[in-house]
Amino acid sequence: MQDTWDRLRDFASSYRQPIGDTRARERVTGATRTAGSIPVSLDALDHLARTTAELDAIVHKHAPDAAPAPADAYARRDWFMEHTAHLDDDGQREARATVYRQGLEHAIAMGDDKVVRRHPCPSCGTWGLFWRPAARRAACVNTHCADANGGLPRTWSLARLAAAHTAREETRSRRAT
Ligand SMILES: [Zn+2]
Repeated sequence: MQDTWDRLRDFASSYRQPIGDTRARERVTGATRTAGSIPVSLDALDHLARTTAELDAIVHKHAPDAAPAPADAYARRDWFMEHTAHLDDDGQREARATVYRQGLEHAIAMGDDKVVRRHPCPSCGTWGLFWRPAARRAACVNTHCADANGGLPRTWSLARLAAAHTAREETRSRRAT
């Protein structure tokens, strides 16, 4: 599975690519194009600006003198690791969950909403989440789960899925040591 930084690199390069596989790019970014210009998608710009600002805020909360987030995905990974490595458990958990959630957001921004299927429902624990784009939430298909919820499918934010994933990883790494 691609990690957050691989996806960020893919997202940024698909978005910058000036001419070429227009169809792929339009699928990726929802870009619109006027004659002779490089396609610009406000959604893509907004996505990049928002995810960058979020990492910037985490780093500068703990390291006010740190450099701003580098544009390059892998430089950004190193920068983020360097400035969050010393955080306490809560800080590390927040950093890891944020990075993981951004990975899901990058994938969904590139049209790969199947990433939510790789997570069990936080309520019933079964697999079979699907993405509801309008609500920007993952919904559980399990009918027992919905029955216990008054007949409505339970839905989850990406932040909730990322927090659950991070907690599972922590349990796994504790067991391994
Ligand atoms: Zn469920």
